[in-house]
Amino acid sequence: MKLYVHIPFCHAKCAYCDFYSTPRREWMEAFVGAAIGEWGERSAGLSEPVDTLYFGGGTPSSLPAELLRRLLEALPTENLREAT
Ligand code: SF4
Repeated sequence: MKLYVHIPFCHAKCAYCDFYSTPRREWMEAFVGAAIGEWGERSAGLSEPVDTLYFGGGTPSSLPAELLRRLLEALPTENLREAT
């Protein structure tokens, strides 16, 4: 099963961009907490294990290292065939 995690933050919002993204860094911590909570709710009902983990956005690398660490610790990162 593939898991896509949308990180909706960028350093600025490009005028041509149709992706959901925002430069509001003050929302990052709440977002990570909500994403971890959502994963906790949804992961119990999965019929098969996650073998592929994708991060997209936005600009996933715009998350501070500590928040990225918290997110990675909560998500399934073992036995992956691919992580991007
Ligand atoms: S996702 Fe890419 S194109 Fe869109 S605002 Fe962020 S940096 Fe710009």
